[in-house]
Amino acid sequence: MRKRLSFDTFLEGILAGDRVVLSQAITLVESALDSDQELSARLVQDLLPHTGKSIRIGITGVPGVGKSTFIEAFGSWLLNQGKRVAVLAVDPSSQLTKGSILGDKTRMEKLSSDKRAFIRPSPSGSTLGGVSGKTRESILLCEAAGFDVILVETVGVGQSETAVKNMVDFFLLLMLSGAGDELQGIKKGIMEMADLLVINKADGENLDAAKKAKANYQNALHLFPEAEKSWYPQVLLASSLTGFGLEQIWENLQEYEQRMKASGFWDSNRASQRLTWLEDQVQYLLGQVFLKNSQVRQKLETEKPKAKSGELNPRILAQQLIDLFLSKS
Ligand code: GDP
Repeated sequence: MRKRLSFDTFLEGILAGDRVVLSQAITLVESALDSDQELSARLVQDLLPHTGKSIRIGITGVPGVGKSTFIEAFGSWLLNQGKRVAVLAVDPSSQLTKGSILGDKTRMEKLSSDKRAFIRPSPSGSTLGGVSGKTRESILLCEAAGFDVILVETVGVGQSETAVKNMVDFFLLLMLSGAGDELQGIKKGIMEMADLLVINKADGENLDAAKKAKANYQNALHLFPEAEKSWYPQVLLASSLTGFGLEQIWENLQEYEQRMKASGFWDSNRASQRLTWLEDQVQYLLGQVFLKNSQVRQKLETEKPKAKSGELNPRILAQQLIDLFLSKS
């Protein structure tokens, strides 16, 4: 059995920036064991005063757009600027694909071997609510461990973007030139969420096409209504192979941070994100408690075939299960 560190060892280790302890603390956050859950909740609570100082950046884009390579290049560039960088991932589908993103650490060799960086593959979990709650707590643990920039990677094809948008300060969308939006599988809604669009792989023969794509996307973005924070997303070019554009991306991020802090949006956004987190947790934990109830499970087992075959209205069964749960608890 895994030997668990004491609460104080966790606390002190994280505050000292110990990556091994941090990693074990995240394992605790991700654990399904009640005792681990209780300990990690207390740990995050006690570390709250030491959190919040990083810039949290969501990075998305379809598979193959170059996310891992970009994070390796941008992360390394940030290390050279004296930053400590943590990389986390949200991929609720990873149960099916067994860790499809960030599993491939070979593209992040430099980062993963650097003491000033911390890379954590996506937690497993079947529900987005569960996974995103774990990632939120992991962000806080990384901040308490002294990381200045947190990069949260997600695959740009599903609901996980909204979840990530709800836990970061800045949302960066990676795109490719030479393919229409439809081809890239990027929904318009995701483009509207972006604070910055980066046309990736702007190097060699791709460069001209990337410049054209930049102009096209910039025009398309102007059609979107101005967001409440009055920030016009830029379209920038980048290449992870040559390092082209990385500095400009960081400058854009810094400008965003400065302006949003000055306007008050930075704090109000984080405050409303905490409320969303609370709502998510209520739903998620309620679901957990409900499904752990033995009578509910028993009835569900016996009645499920009827709902499955179409014989029984699922809403009626759901209501019966809830009535049963409430009468027994
Ligand atoms: P992900 O699936 O979005 O994480 O994409 P990867 O980082 O795995 O990259 C997919 C492919 O694109 C790999 O073969 C990379 O070598 C290549 N690639 C990534 N970034 C660049 C870049 O800036 N320029 C060029 N030319 N190729 C790149």
